[in-house]
Amino acid sequence: MSVLLVVAILIAAGLGGWLFWQSWIRPIFEIRDALKAVADRDQHPPIVRSSLWPFTTMSADLVRVSEMLRDQGRQLADEGFSLRAILGSMVEGIMIVDPSLRIRLANDALHTMFDLTRSPINRTVFEVFRDPNLAPAIERSLREIRPVNLEFQTDSRMSAGRPQRFFRVNLAPLFPSGEASPAGILAVFNDVTEVRTLETVRREFVANVSHEFRTPLAIISGYIETLLDGALDDREMAERSLGVMQKHGKRLNLLIDDLLTISKLEHRSVDLQVRATNLREVLQRVIEQIERQIAGKRANVGIEFDSDAEIAEVDPPRVEQVFFNLLINALQYGPKEGVDVQVAGRRRGDEIEVAFSDNGPGIPYEDQPHIFERFYRVHKDRSRDAGGTGLGLSIVKNVAQAHGGHVSVRSTPGAGAVFKFVVPARYRPAPGRPA
Ligand code: ADP
Repeated sequence: MSVLLVVAILIAAGLGGWLFWQSWIRPIFEIRDALKAVADRDQHPPIVRSSLWPFTTMSADLVRVSEMLRDQGRQLADEGFSLRAILGSMVEGIMIVDPSLRIRLANDALHTMFDLTRSPINRTVFEVFRDPNLAPAIERSLREIRPVNLEFQTDSRMSAGRPQRFFRVNLAPLFPSGEASPAGILAVFNDVTEVRTLETVRREFVANVSHEFRTPLAIISGYIETLLDGALDDREMAERSLGVMQKHGKRLNLLIDDLLTISKLEHRSVDLQVRATNLREVLQRVIEQIERQIAGKRANVGIEFDSDAEIAEVDPPRVEQVFFNLLINALQYGPKEGVDVQVAGRRRGDEIEVAFSDNGPGIPYEDQPHIFERFYRVHKDRSRDAGGTGLGLSIVKNVAQAHGGHVSVRSTPGAGAVFKFVVPARYRPAPGRPA
């Protein structure tokens, strides 16, 4: 009897223990596992299987916490993504600097703008940019708690052999959590090289034009004064003065014509009247126009055109002007007598090349890259004396480019020069020009 009782008590105790385990201990272990899963940011924490009141509420709370964490994580990822996407797609260089002037953030555009081979993060502003004004400007913006703007240009170390570049930088203090003192500076970099270069070109152009006009005008005024001072009565002197004035008056006219031509061609406002044109015939027309100059220089002009290089779709008067400028140059800068110019027309694929080779003094190597620039002259006085405006070759280049072509020069100083004018045989408008 007593044995049976002991057995029954043991069975009851075992059953009670099992029930206690199932109802209280197992849910505690499950809650522990679920908490660990939530802490590990597991998206689906294990379910607590218990119908007892404390565990059901704990389990529901755990599910809520897990969902909240999931939502917050998603929101953070979205914000991170949009911030990265915004910074990555900006053309401006963006940088955040802390108060110790260390860079904390830099976008891709900043890397590209400054060819940064190493990450700038955690390096100082001075180390990365080596500009003496940038770091003090950031310090001022931090100290005075206000936006500061500045401009700086790359120095020779930064530009590594590339042309110098100009940057405009807007600095603004950052207050991420509404604190009174800024936690850093947001710097926005804009590359303004193109604007600065255009400004320089314009300034130089105005200076050049003024200079070109000043000389003939001063000469004309000088002769007018001489005439007014009594030279009018000296017929020979008066005639000579008027002759000089006429020459310089013509020069001024020529200058204005050339300037207008270049301005039209450069601003793409000229409508090319393109039609199939025989280039050899255009050349012959020009030779007829300058017969006097050719005879004066006892010059020989040879023409040799391949049969498939004669016809091109061009604006005839424009090409006539090109041939005129190139032939006149060969005559003007060639030897005093016995100038020899050979003009050859060749087909080069889709293009036609017209090469003018002369037996003149040639062009020094250092001048060759600049020879097609406006107002560029090798011997300034010699060109002016010869009546040149310094714009002839610039017109040649602009006409070629307006037709979708190009120009080049090859010369061994002392042994003549070869100027090549190349245009497509079938007209293809340059970008931005009407078809
Ligand atoms: P310019 O009106 O002075 O002739 P261009 O633009 O036609 O201006 O020529 C620019 C400079 O190039 C000239 O001043 C001259 O020094 C040089 N040049 C042009 N053509 C020749 C040539 N065939 N031989 C030598 N020098 C030349």
